[in-house]
Amino acid sequence: MRLFDRHGRRLDEVSYHPAYHELMHLAIDRGWHAVAWQEEGRGGHQAHVAALYLLTQAEPGFCCPVTMTHAAMPVLRHSSRAQARWAPGLLAWDYDPRPLPATEKSGLTFGMAMTEKQGGSDLRATSTRADPLAATRAESLAATHAEPSDDGWRLTGHKWFCSAPMSDAFLTLARTDEGLGCFLVPRFTPDGERNAIELQRLKEKCGNRANASAEIEYRGAWAEPIGAPGRGIATLLEMVQQTRLDAATAPVGMMRQALRVAWHHVRERHAFGRALAEQPLMQAVVADLALEVEACLALVMRAARAFDGAARGDENERALARLLPALAKYWHNKRGPGFMAEAMECLGGIGYVEESPLARLYREAPVNSIWEGSGNVICLDVLRVLRRHPEALAACWQAMAPARGENRRLDAALAELERLLAEPAEGLEPRARWLTQRLAQCLQAALLVQHAPSEVADAFCATRLGDEASPAYGVLPSGSPCTALLARIES
Ligand SMILES: Cc1cc2nc3c(=O)[nH]c(=O)nc-3n(C[C@H](O)[C@H](O)[C@H](O)COP(=O)(O)OP(=O)(O)OC[C@H]3O[C@@H](n4cnc5c(N)ncnc54)[C@H](O)[C@@H]3O)c2cc1C
Repeated sequence: MRLFDRHGRRLDEVSYHPAYHELMHLAIDRGWHAVAWQEEGRGGHQAHVAALYLLTQAEPGFCCPVTMTHAAMPVLRHSSRAQARWAPGLLAWDYDPRPLPATEKSGLTFGMAMTEKQGGSDLRATSTRADPLAATRAESLAATHAEPSDDGWRLTGHKWFCSAPMSDAFLTLARTDEGLGCFLVPRFTPDGERNAIELQRLKEKCGNRANASAEIEYRGAWAEPIGAPGRGIATLLEMVQQTRLDAATAPVGMMRQALRVAWHHVRERHAFGRALAEQPLMQAVVADLALEVEACLALVMRAARAFDGAARGDENERALARLLPALAKYWHNKRGPGFMAEAMECLGGIGYVEESPLARLYREAPVNSIWEGSGNVICLDVLRVLRRHPEALAACWQAMAPARGENRRLDAALAELERLLAEPAEGLEPRARWLTQRLAQCLQAALLVQHAPSEVADAFCATRLGDEASPAYGVLPSGSPCTALLARIES
């Protein structure tokens, strides 16, 4: 982080490792951040999620800024002015990291600034203040010695977490006289001056180190409002709906990378006279890990399909799109950290050493559970959707209907779910994690029943929904088709 230049003028810049920029080029110069909108309704969201799944396997850290840039689009659509000014730069297939005003750049990236010290989950506690420039004109003229060029607002306050602080603009939640509003805060004002966004500190994070996350201070920063006054949370939640699907997908990519590393190792490593990959208990562990990746991938791809269907105006898919990202975000991230530990263990001692990628993946694993709504908050959101949008649950049942009658364990789990959902709503809150987990697992099972070979679907239902379901990986019932499951790692 470089706060000042040699003359003591504020710079507020973060320098990244060259590999970070190379990866940003890899993603943005190929349109990964834009494809969902440029091919919206024609598989664009599915292409985006598939690309994220692959890119995360290269390095998860740079995916955060690309995800936020992608996810900013639905917010820009709330203001025709902001859309006209900012969407062409967002959609450009060109990563341009230069710290310049947006009008001088070939491509733009976006961040978001919501979390404050007193409020991450509870955004209603936001205290950053937004005031129309007209009201603060005298003050701003004194500070900048310049005539403001248009009718912006001034933002004053602190944001406790702001990732990708070198973004060209930040979608920000701030308090106005009419309630909480959504504001676009550019790094440079319309006059071409550096905006008053001061970096205070970079977080010393447990993982996710390629991606800078800053504490920032808005000191009368220029901003333009987006969306209806007082509807800032609702406006920004449209961004969060997109980032949540990505936060459900990233752990699947990381699990897949860990699986590949573990699988490679156990085929090469010999113990007790045979390759580890030939030993039945190790086969059960790796086969079970492979099963998890396949089920999670099926669920995020189905969620992405729902996003595309919703964009085409399909009401059933729109209803499904309300629920699936939350279910997948919660459950995939609860499965991720244990998965990393197990994959690490497949390598024995060297898995725990920094030279193997497992140590990095292990530290990275919890992050997607925390940001974009932590576990409990996601489960409470699932309850809220079930309460307010009964059509979302109906769409889930419909999505699972073709799998009914195909597997007795899935049928039993669905019947149990129906009983749970029939209970009085006020009693469900302490059970929200179980409900979310079970809905996610049943959807995964139903998708595998419909789209995977029967041995895969049967093994999944037995290990996740059956009586022998275990919190540990590698506990497969006798007769499980390990060889067939392992063969799918290569496919
Ligand atoms: C690496 C990283 C990068 C980040 N980048 C950004 C960013 O770019 N922009 C941004 O705005 N934010 C960012 N965040 C912040 C992140 O979104 C918040 O940390 C997150 O939303 C949780 O908020 P909090 O930290 O205030 O925790 P709290 O809101 O205090 O929550 C603490 C715990 O309480 C639980 N909880 C909350 N309410 C309830 C309830 N009613 N019932 C039961 N349990 C509850 C939560 O699930 C959580 O487990 C980032 C965070 C991290 C770790």
